[in-house]
Amino acid sequence: ALEVHLASRPKGVPRLENFAFVETALPAPAAGEVLVRNHVMSLDPYMRGRMSAAKSYAEPYALGEVMHGGAVGEVLESTVDSLVPGDFVLHGFGWRDHAIVRADAVAKVDPAVAPLGAYLGVLGMPGLTAYAGLLDVAEFRTGDTVFVSAAAGAVGSLVGQIARLRGAKRVIGSAGGPEKVQHLLDLGFDAALDYKAAPIGEQLAAAAPDGIDVYFDNVGGDHLEAAISAMNVHGRIAVCGMISLYNATEPTPAPRNLMQLVGKRITMRGMLVSDHAGRRADFIREVGGWVRSGELRYTETVVEGLRNAPEAFLSLLSGGNTGKMLVRLV
Ligand code: NDP
Repeated sequence: ALEVHLASRPKGVPRLENFAFVETALPAPAAGEVLVRNHVMSLDPYMRGRMSAAKSYAEPYALGEVMHGGAVGEVLESTVDSLVPGDFVLHGFGWRDHAIVRADAVAKVDPAVAPLGAYLGVLGMPGLTAYAGLLDVAEFRTGDTVFVSAAAGAVGSLVGQIARLRGAKRVIGSAGGPEKVQHLLDLGFDAALDYKAAPIGEQLAAAAPDGIDVYFDNVGGDHLEAAISAMNVHGRIAVCGMISLYNATEPTPAPRNLMQLVGKRITMRGMLVSDHAGRRADFIREVGGWVRSGELRYTETVVEGLRNAPEAFLSLLSGGNTGKMLVRLV
């Protein structure tokens, strides 16, 4: 099998030399295991954290070992009754073309219900993050004005659309560049801000003259500071990620306006999607229904071939994707 290993830990922005391709011989699956041929794998910003040795919520990748991540593949050989060759399964052994996986660590998926990539995006981890983060962590209510950053990405594009479909008063998104801003308007955002064109704080103040009630933070830094300044009394912030800091080599400055949390009685709450598995059924019913009816749209950026996965990952970190970043292996 061909595997991508962590060759060295990046300092700052990752480089191609941090990754290595290694050919390995796969054993036959032992009792309770299946052999899977990966068709599509996920690239996610949290993988940048796992490339570092620093303690975080996700275990660091081991140096010189194969990397991990979400993937969907086809069962080639099975030792259990519950899975047969030809079944498709979702599992955590991406960054390789074939994997031996414990059958109790995979979830069967149906390619007739949704394309395989959807199980890694709109109907998968990023989708649940958007759904639970907006509705439960940020406690979204009908009539709220919502601001979401990295809004043209996998999570952000769904946050904005779920808010609109759930009756937001106004949905504002930020992204880098004119094409992404146009994409947000096409998705039904009321306002879209290009953070590369002008300071985000000024743009947000102009786009939200009546303030915002919810901020879904994917970026941190200046975006978080802008959101706090625009926030209404009793506003709520779901802290999902802070991608503007992931490649930082020095401690980054805090938002300078945190004191506003006091007067505005702002709630700011961090989240991990793994805490929200209990919402999966609601999420699949509601978001799956919107996908079927065409009311919610999702975009994917698909890169072909495992050999191109490291470059695609670097591209994800610098905004080369619109919607979910995927690598197709088959
Ligand atoms: P995206 O599809 O949004 O891809 C990342 C995007 O981040 C890029 O496309 C780029 O878009 C943007 N970006 C990169 N650098 C910067 C920067 N310096 N300032 C502003 N934007 C930047 O990824 P996901 O949807 O998978 O993830 C979005 C966020 O959600 C991340 O912070 C991630 O860590 C977090 N997350 C958290 C989870 C949790 O459980 N807490 C679960 C899943 C995701 P652009 O071109 O607009 O700059």
